[in-house]
Amino acid sequence: MTDNDTRDLIIIGGGPAGYTAALYAARANLHPLVIEGVGWGGQLMITSDVENYPGYVEGILGPEMMRDFRTQAERFGAEFLTEDVTSVDFSERPFRISVGDDEYRARAVIVSTGASARQLGIDSERELQGKGVSYCAVCDAFFFRDKEVVVVGGGDSAMEEAIFLTKFATKVTVVHRRDDFRASPIMLDRARANEKIEFVTNAVVEEVLGEEGRVTGVRIRDLNTGETTDLPAGGLFVAVGHDPNTKLFLEQLEHDEPGYLITQQGSTATNIPGVFAAGDVVDHVYRQAVTAAGTGAMAALDAERFLAAEEGHEAAALAAPRIEAEEAEAPLAVTSSGRAGSARASV
Ligand code: NDP
Repeated sequence: MTDNDTRDLIIIGGGPAGYTAALYAARANLHPLVIEGVGWGGQLMITSDVENYPGYVEGILGPEMMRDFRTQAERFGAEFLTEDVTSVDFSERPFRISVGDDEYRARAVIVSTGASARQLGIDSERELQGKGVSYCAVCDAFFFRDKEVVVVGGGDSAMEEAIFLTKFATKVTVVHRRDDFRASPIMLDRARANEKIEFVTNAVVEEVLGEEGRVTGVRIRDLNTGETTDLPAGGLFVAVGHDPNTKLFLEQLEHDEPGYLITQQGSTATNIPGVFAAGDVVDHVYRQAVTAAGTGAMAALDAERFLAAEEGHEAAALAAPRIEAEEAEAPLAVTSSGRAGSARASV
């Protein structure tokens, strides 16, 4: 077993939350190690154009954006390990994180392993991801202006996505495998009342049709008759749910029923002091790169404050880079939330 020195901070997961946490933590001299996972970049890696991330005036491809995030954190000294964590032990400090036979130790940990959009699991879906197959209407609806699109799913997400898509698309067909819907009645009624939305029930998407690398339609199969029909469509929105990537943590960190981690209100702190969580691993409501990045920054600041408190200079921890303990004796500004902030803080 390889033994590694104890670090201040290890960040598990490399998506918008993890890389933003790494950027902030690196600038705070915490020398973070990001164990980013083999599939680093997260859901952005299967997204093409991103036009709603502030600062990218012309938009950017999802994978490129993740490379930018990573490079920016690296510039300030964040280190990366492109491996999957195999187990964690948060029962005592330093926390222990295993990657196969190698063990890494840290005084604080940020969990930012994200969530994965469930996929239909068909080859043509995978091939056309980011080329008309999408898992996020808020992100991609804009690209389907004046086109017909198909939404798969029968839950609230499918209804919400279908309704949102009607702002752009000429027609939205919701394909659902049953004729009973999991969606709440109010969402279902709203979708049913929308003239642009049609429903096809008791049917599944059998194949995504494409030409020249773009979606041109979907082949659906009627589950009662076995008959197949080709629906012309410029896009397919798969809205069959998300799964938080939390299997490794469920026995140690508090979570809700679907497995999303629970953090204290207004903070990224989990039930274990020194372990923080950020991004989609906590959030099943907003699920945006920008919101994940925001909570990543919060987690780094929370971790910094936690470590500084241990070192006896908590009040100075709002500043980045971290200042030395003796300097922390200087007068401090106390915010209305009761948190003390250094008057010399600069971020
Ligand atoms: P759900 O798990 O509620 O629904 C998933 C849907 O996808 C189900 O209809 C399911 O069918 C279908 N499905 C699952 N796998 C497949 C598959 N392989 N092929 C075809 N269909 C499939 O997920 P949601 O993301 O819709 O919702 C998750 C949670 O978030 C819910 O609690 C929901 O209420 C909440 N939410 C709330 C919103 C709001 O209030 N505005 C908006 C979005 C979500 P079946 O029913 O047959 O299992």
